[in-house]
Amino acid sequence: MPDIDLVTLTSLTFAINAIVAGYMLLLARLNIAQPAFYHWAASCIIFIFASLLAVSRMYQVTPVISVWLAHSLLALPPILIATGLLRFFRGTETPLPIKKLGIIFAAYATLLFFTYKLSYSAPILTATAIALGCCWCIALLNLNTTQRVVSKLLQGVLLLHALAMVAEITLYIDNWQLPLTRHSELYLEFILISHLLLTTIASMMLPLLLFVHREQHLMLQANRDELTHLPNRRHFLRESSTFMARATDSSPVIIMMLDLDNFKSINDTFGHAVGDAALKQVADALNIELRATDLIGRMGGEEFAIVMTETTEAAARKVAERLRQKVELQARVIEGNQINLTISIGAICSYKNNSSDFQALLKLADDALFEAKRRGRNQIIFDYSTNDAQVVG
Ligand code: GH3
Ligand code: MG
Ligand code: MG
Repeated sequence: MPDIDLVTLTSLTFAINAIVAGYMLLLARLNIAQPAFYHWAASCIIFIFASLLAVSRMYQVTPVISVWLAHSLLALPPILIATGLLRFFRGTETPLPIKKLGIIFAAYATLLFFTYKLSYSAPILTATAIALGCCWCIALLNLNTTQRVVSKLLQGVLLLHALAMVAEITLYIDNWQLPLTRHSELYLEFILISHLLLTTIASMMLPLLLFVHREQHLMLQANRDELTHLPNRRHFLRESSTFMARATDSSPVIIMMLDLDNFKSINDTFGHAVGDAALKQVADALNIELRATDLIGRMGGEEFAIVMTETTEAAARKVAERLRQKVELQARVIEGNQINLTISIGAICSYKNNSSDFQALLKLADDALFEAKRRGRNQIIFDYSTNDAQVVG
């Protein structure tokens, strides 16, 4: 076990927490819309202040300040980490449970006030409060469904922190009313160093939550169409190569181009908002009728494209027909307007031995779509490039 003198350890504690607090304040300045950083900076500052008060005991400062006040304040940092997480996950509109937390903190400080002179009761109560605070943070991180990896890592660090506190509680209970042996002091030093390291690691990881969240948000904005939330053209084309690679000699890739019929006149007659609602309705139908493993994209305007793998041509024809019927039946009335929306679909079936690239296949599907329009709309044309083009619907 390490053998570091108390002054070195305390100086290290202050230095690390001061650096982390500065780092959080800088992040708060750079991310004004994210107040969680202020909570996390305050957590470090209070930790430094409370530790200073605890050290003042060596300079004969009254125990009310150096023990009771110091240990009362030491329970606040994990609570501030938790309130920061609440701000982060629930936004600034959701009020924090300040009243409840105030009552819990007052009860803790009162209990501490009446017991802090009893043997090791102050460090036991503080370690219990910190362990409970860590558990609350772990539970709050379960709310996070998007940044799973960072959340799990943080939960691991917090769990280790809570366990370090449990080890400290056990040590003090075992030595209740007894002076600490040299061995116990070394053990405590080890716990304190773990506490320091874990606090630093957790503080370094908290901003990662924001960075990953922001990255995911930007990726979504860059890859999704705002109206329908489907992949946009760029993302669709980028993803297509992965889907094309799944084609085998026996399992084809089906590419479909889908276009809303006479959409311009729907816009002209009922307005752009109704047109938008119609587009959303078609996107919803696509999401429902197709599998999660199919690729759907909004190619622009009122045109969508689909790539299906691990299917057969016959199954794909059925899906296309189901889609056509669904739109015909369900999009008859949109927002109270009788719009009789229909769609046309052009599709192409490609096996592995087909050397055409994706853009060429997309163009063939588009040719089939054009033919469906030419033949009167509200229909599906499969494999128009081959001479046996077939009309369904
Ligand atoms: P066709 O059956 O031949 O496809 O005729 P169409 O009227 O659907 O095709 P056209 O290309 O003439 O018109 C497409 C219209 O789609 C024109 C454009 O205003 C409208 N549009 C494109 N993007 C959007 C959008 O995001 N929202 C709305 N409401 N309309 C859009
Ligand atoms: Mg159209
Ligand atoms: Mg069009």
